[in-house]
Amino acid sequence: MKLSIIVPAMNEEENVGDVVECISKVLKDVDYEIIFIDDGSTDRTYEALEKLYKKYKDSVRAISFSRNFGKDSAIYAGLEHSKGEYIAIIDADMEQNPSYLVEMLDFLEKNDDYDQVAMTIKKRKAGSFIKRLGGKAFYGLMNILSDVKFAQDASDFRMFRSNVKDALLSLPEKSRFSKGIFSWIGFKTKFMEYEVGERTHGVTKFNFKSSFKYAIDGIVGFSIRPLRIATFLGTLTSLSGFIYLIYIIIKTVLYGIDSPGFATIVCLILFIGGIQLICLGILGEYMARTFVETKKRPVYIARKKIGFEEEIL
Ligand code: UDP
Ligand code: MG
Repeated sequence: MKLSIIVPAMNEEENVGDVVECISKVLKDVDYEIIFIDDGSTDRTYEALEKLYKKYKDSVRAISFSRNFGKDSAIYAGLEHSKGEYIAIIDADMEQNPSYLVEMLDFLEKNDDYDQVAMTIKKRKAGSFIKRLGGKAFYGLMNILSDVKFAQDASDFRMFRSNVKDALLSLPEKSRFSKGIFSWIGFKTKFMEYEVGERTHGVTKFNFKSSFKYAIDGIVGFSIRPLRIATFLGTLTSLSGFIYLIYIIIKTVLYGIDSPGFATIVCLILFIGGIQLICLGILGEYMARTFVETKKRPVYIARKKIGFEEEIL
């Protein structure tokens, strides 16, 4: 098998057919498999995949999750089940045109020294100003707070050799923030630009709330710098408190000036209390993640599989 194409799909019943058709058109002479991961869809995505399997028995496979586990878990399941010499990840909504797969494969075949091709967004769709701004702020903050560097506008749309897949699967963590993991494992990566297409059917699955959760996951999962900032803030406030104390002692003992302190005390209590709560919150985020990881729960649970040797039906 030359190429495994991983396609996470959540509520994409109208799109999965287009994806298969488009891929079969552009990759005519390549031995490939398309692994769809039906990530807890509530529409008829699974039925659509079953139909596709009947039509394209040699190339289509599907794993259906028992509930929604998120795109990153879907990617993990796809990696586990892929058999190809090369592995690609692509969205199901046609925003990432499958014809780029040809370019990516061509590049990797011609350039032995590269392990991976990652696609970066050339031009964002019109009207997504807030998303663009949010993205900029997110990557800016990530790169300040994190120890691994994140390329702006890099997506999960990429193709790599099986050594990269092995590296990805060797990371045992359960909360899988793909962008961070890709950046952490390294490898020689070629960045190519792609133009984002229009989503043909359905709606985006990421809203403000899930993007916010995603951002916190990314920062806490790949950096301990917030903990250091907490330590720094604590040191700074106690130091200022100490200096202020010395100042008051000198003022009262040496100069005999009595300082009325009600307002100062209220301000200090609020200020220090606030900082303590923030630091506790930061600590809590890390503890919560340790808690989740120690449970060693699986990344996903498959309900049904089609097209694999060990089928669950
Ligand atoms: N997706 C998924 N599980 C989720 C959310 C999204 O498998 O919980 C899939 C979705 O079906 C699509 C891809 O991930 O194939 C990207 O999602 P979407 O197009 O909604 O994101 P956007 O392109 O707007 O960032
Ligand atoms: Mg999309």
